[in-house]
Amino acid sequence: MKIEKNVVVDLDYTLRKDDKEGDIIEQTQDGNPLVFIFGIGMMIPSFEENLEGKEAGDEVSFGIKAENAYGKHDAQAVMDVPIKYFEVEGKIDRDKLQTGTPIQMQDQEGRAYRGIILNQGIEEIKVDFNHPMAGQDLHFTVTINNVREATESELDHGHVHE
Ligand SMILES: [Zn+2]
Repeated sequence: MKIEKNVVVDLDYTLRKDDKEGDIIEQTQDGNPLVFIFGIGMMIPSFEENLEGKEAGDEVSFGIKAENAYGKHDAQAVMDVPIKYFEVEGKIDRDKLQTGTPIQMQDQEGRAYRGIILNQGIEEIKVDFNHPMAGQDLHFTVTINNVREATESELDHGHVHE
């Protein structure tokens, strides 16, 4: 059967930066494919558009521009956070605030924000709260393993059952 809304798709993929020669960002490993319900907003829309109408055994290769993937890099989401916010039990451990360290912060409503430390200053830590793949053009090579109808309870729950 062909891929369309409300089918369960089982596929393997290799995700690269920029184009088919780019560095590998992610890759499903043998025996651990990506399995999802198609057309219900679980995946990037551009990713699904490239798979619609395909069937088991098909191989598809396509690029997605950053603005259609995780968005452009937003300079406003790079912030200088006062170092006091990194205090743990009254102490600041500067060794744990190195460039490239992933962090998670909460606002007053308890919403969590993930970021990456760009730079450690004396009084402030520069943090990039953009999605790690923001601004990144993506390239996918996909092999469709299987396509089947979703069961009623899968559609009810919005996820795949084994
Ligand atoms: Zn369920």
